[in-house]
Amino acid sequence: MSPRGFWIALALVLSVLLSFAHGAASEPQGCKRCAGSGEVQCGSCAKSTCNWSGEGKVSARFCSLAAQCGSCRGTQRIACKECGREVTPATAKLRRETEAWLAEMAAIDSTVGAAGREKPVHAQSAHFRITWNIKQVDVKGGSTPHGGMHVYLDRLEALYTEFLKDLSAADKDFCGITHVMLWQSARDQEKASPVYTGQASSTESKLMGKSPFVSIFYDKSHLHEEFELHQAVVHQVAHCLLSNVFDGIWPGNIKGGWIDCGLAHAYEIRTFGEVRHYCYVEQDTLQAFQFGRWEQAVLSGVQGGKEVRFLGVTGKHTTELTPEEHMYAWSYVDYLLRAHPGKFGAVARAVKSKQPYAEMLQSILGKSPAQFQGDWAQWVRTTYSPKKAEKPRQ
Ligand SMILES: [Zn+2]
Ligand SMILES: [Zn+2]
Ligand SMILES: [Zn+2]
Ligand SMILES: [Zn+2]
Repeated sequence: MSPRGFWIALALVLSVLLSFAHGAASEPQGCKRCAGSGEVQCGSCAKSTCNWSGEGKVSARFCSLAAQCGSCRGTQRIACKECGREVTPATAKLRRETEAWLAEMAAIDSTVGAAGREKPVHAQSAHFRITWNIKQVDVKGGSTPHGGMHVYLDRLEALYTEFLKDLSAADKDFCGITHVMLWQSARDQEKASPVYTGQASSTESKLMGKSPFVSIFYDKSHLHEEFELHQAVVHQVAHCLLSNVFDGIWPGNIKGGWIDCGLAHAYEIRTFGEVRHYCYVEQDTLQAFQFGRWEQAVLSGVQGGKEVRFLGVTGKHTTELTPEEHMYAWSYVDYLLRAHPGKFGAVARAVKSKQPYAEMLQSILGKSPAQFQGDWAQWVRTTYSPKKAEKPRQ
């Protein structure tokens, strides 16, 4: 053999040896069944449980229906039998977290005494937890309790996205997630509300601040249509998010009632076109007040020189606001959101830290109270529609 032939032969032998060595070492990576990951799709729950995520909708981090799968706990991943390895540490961690979460949810089931009845379903997304015991709601996807729950969880996340934008806030600005509980039976509402919202209620109640809860009875004699339940949720959750963001301080009892209610109404009007909903603290005062569209009423107030001035609504707790002041509180919030985008977050921080109003208007908007008042009135004149509500009042 020539020296050249010798080297070629040696290279060939070496490359064959190397490929053997490599093949032996990488055998588990080469597992065809799991493509080397050690875990595969769970077959037990592929068809039977939650398939809500992956439909382009909000992905629930936990879902009680999904978590029922004994093989995977809703992670949809199980160990690969072919290569006999364990699931990944990430999957193992998610299973442990799901088990702890399920135990918490089971405590809610026993609080409302669900044994022997249809149990609530629960789910959690990045920013909300939802507990749901409503058979069906008249909306696409809402024909089962599980579907209805996910529809509402998605809606909560959509509201959160709007809220972030309006308040110039980010996830890190929140003290905790908001837990929303929705019931078909007044009995569940009565059991849950004192425990979770700290307030006995047969209709709706909420706990604001660092760790908010909302509990609502879907009372068909009051919330006739499905969208009225949605509207109630939007209103109450807006209160909760505002109380939670930045500092966990509810502005409603530190004379910031105007942003507390004004913002809740702003989301109602933006989403549903008109105001229908008042929460418990407001209920006593609303008897004679018109629901409906407020633009026209505020516009005619301004045109007739009968408006409630800004400094007239800013010094009050939520409970002290009259129905008329509610409407103007909404309009001042509406003006800030629409005519001064990007400023409402700073206003909310200032109100929550009890900054004097003249100072606040100057530092955030560069306006005196008189300028602010005049600019608002001018904006109302050019922006609000004089048309009456198109929909008949119900
Ligand atoms: Zn689900
Ligand atoms: Zn499974
Ligand atoms: Zn494998
Ligand atoms: Zn309210």
